[in-house]
Amino acid sequence: MAIRFDGRVAIVTGAGAGLGRCHAVELAKRGAKVVVNDLGAALDGSGRSDSAAQQVVDQITDAGGQAMAHGADVSDAEQVADMVARTRDRWGRIDILVNNAGILRDKTFAKMELSDFRKVVEVHLMGTATVTHACWPIMRDQRSGRIVLTASSSGLYGNFGQSNYGAAKAAMVGLMNVLHLEGARDDIRVNTLAPTAATRMTRDLMPPEALDLLRPETITPGVLYLVSEDAPSRVILGAGAGSFAVTKIYETPGATLTGDALTPEGVAAAFDRISNPEGQQELTQAFQQTQKYARNGA
Ligand code: NAD
Repeated sequence: MAIRFDGRVAIVTGAGAGLGRCHAVELAKRGAKVVVNDLGAALDGSGRSDSAAQQVVDQITDAGGQAMAHGADVSDAEQVADMVARTRDRWGRIDILVNNAGILRDKTFAKMELSDFRKVVEVHLMGTATVTHACWPIMRDQRSGRIVLTASSSGLYGNFGQSNYGAAKAAMVGLMNVLHLEGARDDIRVNTLAPTAATRMTRDLMPPEALDLLRPETITPGVLYLVSEDAPSRVILGAGAGSFAVTKIYETPGATLTGDALTPEGVAAAFDRISNPEGQQELTQAFQQTQKYARNGA
């Protein structure tokens, strides 16, 4: 069965370029009414322009779709409230939110100004939280919602020179884990995308032959699945060049130390056992860990 979004209203942040543009265009092609949000910022988050979002809106409407532009800075609660209010005034609901807007301010941690660390956290983490927070009550009232957060392999696995970005991107997983639990009874499903694509963000880092393989178009099908009616929830979906994979966090069975072994030396002596992956488990709620330790220690 074809995945369609007729009658659905979607907000895609940072949709004036790169991955966000591609997500917005495809959602509209499949029937969604799309808010194309973009501040029109430079890669480091400076500057502003309305033209990027408007061009994507024109592309969608020229092809017969429905779209509106909004230039809200995702990290500004007032501007975001205005975007959400205008969306509701025009289309009455919000079914899908793709949090995609992002910037880079790369430097080694030793050289990084805290202001650059803060700005990147502000856009990625606070921006995502701010737009999601504004849409959340609407999705709860509708008793339905589909939300994608955009993480990165830099956050999941690490990347030299991206402590600010990696920290902000890893935070998406924490946000997703909790929103998944809190949204479940209202059928709000929350997933995380970890893309790798040739955009202005990565263009200079990739060899030319990789650029074509890593087109944003190879990632968007994964996003559309994550916001579809039958979407999963609490999934971290890696995507690039048409490859898709799921990232999971496992915990080893570990070891329980008592008496003389419950010392730093005891932890050192048992560390091979503590870190042995055999029998590792995926935990899906914080309390499962508490129960496991209490059970093992009893
Ligand atoms: P991009 O720079 O092409 O697009 C990002 C868009 O976000 C830009 O149009 C920019 O104007 C907009 N934006 C920036 N700050 C904003 C703000 N405060 N409010 C609203 N809009 C804002 O980058 P991209 O590669 O398409 O990245 C999209 C998302 O995917 C980002 O979150 C990025 O971190 C993530 N990501 C990308 C890659 C990759 O390989 N390209 C890898 C991992 C994660």
